[in-house]
Amino acid sequence: MDNAVVLFENPRIRLGGAALNAGEHIHHAAARAVGGGIEWRAEAGQVSLRGKCEEREPGLWHISFELTNSGADAEVGVMLPYAFYHIEQERPLRFFDPTFGGVLKTAAVPIGRTYPGPASFCLTAAVGEKAAIATGLLDGEQRRVMIRHTPSVHYGQIRFALERVLVKSGQTVALPMQYIKAAPTWAEAFEPYKTWFNEMFPRVAPRSEWLASGKYIETRLAHCLVPFEPFKAPSGVLIFDNEGPARSIETIKAEIDQAFERGAKEGYTPLFYQYGWWEAMASFKGLFAFDSHCGDYTKRHDYAKKSVEYIHQKGGKVYLYTNFISIGDESEIYREHPDLLARDKAGFPQYNAGYPMLMLCPGAPGIRDYWRRVVDCILTEIGADGIFLDQVCGGHSPQYCYCEAHHHAHPDTYGVDAIELVKHILDYAKSVKPDCYVGGELMLDSRSVLLDETHGYGYSGPPDYAAAVERGEPMPEYYVFAKYLCPGLYSSNGSVMDGASGRGGQEIWRDYRPCFEAGVTPCATDTPDAIAYLYGPANGKSVLAARSAKAGVVKVTLPDGSKVAVETLGLEPVYQIVE
Ligand SMILES: [Zn+2]
Repeated sequence: MDNAVVLFENPRIRLGGAALNAGEHIHHAAARAVGGGIEWRAEAGQVSLRGKCEEREPGLWHISFELTNSGADAEVGVMLPYAFYHIEQERPLRFFDPTFGGVLKTAAVPIGRTYPGPASFCLTAAVGEKAAIATGLLDGEQRRVMIRHTPSVHYGQIRFALERVLVKSGQTVALPMQYIKAAPTWAEAFEPYKTWFNEMFPRVAPRSEWLASGKYIETRLAHCLVPFEPFKAPSGVLIFDNEGPARSIETIKAEIDQAFERGAKEGYTPLFYQYGWWEAMASFKGLFAFDSHCGDYTKRHDYAKKSVEYIHQKGGKVYLYTNFISIGDESEIYREHPDLLARDKAGFPQYNAGYPMLMLCPGAPGIRDYWRRVVDCILTEIGADGIFLDQVCGGHSPQYCYCEAHHHAHPDTYGVDAIELVKHILDYAKSVKPDCYVGGELMLDSRSVLLDETHGYGYSGPPDYAAAVERGEPMPEYYVFAKYLCPGLYSSNGSVMDGASGRGGQEIWRDYRPCFEAGVTPCATDTPDAIAYLYGPANGKSVLAARSAKAGVVKVTLPDGSKVAVETLGLEPVYQIVE
């Protein structure tokens, strides 16, 4: 890696917070070089930080830290060492933003993301044509981490920050390990994260046979079952009005018929995704914000069961909406069970971003009972085929929960409690209905692999390849990282070129879906203006997908070292079957 340079700056420790209440101290660590590595030591009050950086092999560094407290209980903020990098090349670098599955493109805007939360991976990178530098935090405990990456044209700096770590009196806390790797390609630089992830967060249950081998595609026709139409506003918050056009079960059946007709034409069976199926949606007066009554999922609307039965009669499948992380601030469940909410230090519940919803605590003692009642209503009473967990993988940063009645080991257990709760919902749903579907919104590495499908590739809008090409920048890459890093993760939303397993109506998806779901390997091309991925193998076949800035012949090196020429169409992807 002659053309890539990485330097380290010292870590910092910040001491403050309510537990000690002694004002804020910020301490820079002292560094010492030992045997080819670096050791750091910092003290703030009675809390000490010790860490080291070791070069494990050429171009791969492991950085580890621990905190020890010899005083009273204290919360500290730890800023891990900056990695400064410089990659020599003529064209600008591409930078990896890990949000919602990941985007690799040229940018000059700093990346600041919370993991777990909107960031899908605790990972970021700078990628050149011949060198890549990636750094990730192997955060098995799912502690809340801020990823800070300040990119420039050929330079940048990356730092991870743990903003609140409780260290109790006499305790030693090991922080998640950081790695930094310099390698020729992003795939090699990401590899330590991939290896760690697949050991740490394996898939726990196979997908149902009907979903794995059938040609089911999600449709939102008849998605809304309440007797009132939602406003046709492009908003994340659905608003209904009881003065609005009335819906009847006949209207809903007509929409269902329409979905089946379209599926028949394009070669798939509709998988209905329905929300607004609970009773509170029908009983309001005036304006009603969908989100403000979320959580009241144990009382179903009359249309819910009728429409599920109609879908079943026609041979389709259907799953129903829930929100995993929060409940509406006008809901009955909030009034009856405020004990389910995450609480800040002053005891107040916390809002879910700008929504009229309050954040649940996945470690609250009553939360599992609540979810079992919801699953019973959806799968048994209504008879649906599955449950959808909205915002299961982000949407809002995880909370630090200080509720004493929840008996958390420390306030930063949200991430790991969320994984355990998803597993509990999955186990319970499968015990009620063994071939049920459990899906969820937003791609996030550690929770998404538990789901049958996750929405989220392309969440932040369709990839804009054309704009980058016009600016003469190297070809950007979008969302394929999720499939590369987590081969056991499924999504049918989005294009196969962007790492999803495809979309109904695409011929290539109909014929080669098992390849697209078997994993992806990025392939080197003879020009930075082209990108190519090999999907599979499955059933003895792989699919090579490629796109380029301009139509022409691109030479692609396959993972076995052999080279193939692909005639690309430009930005529209082409597919070539490799036996
Ligand atoms: Zn809690």
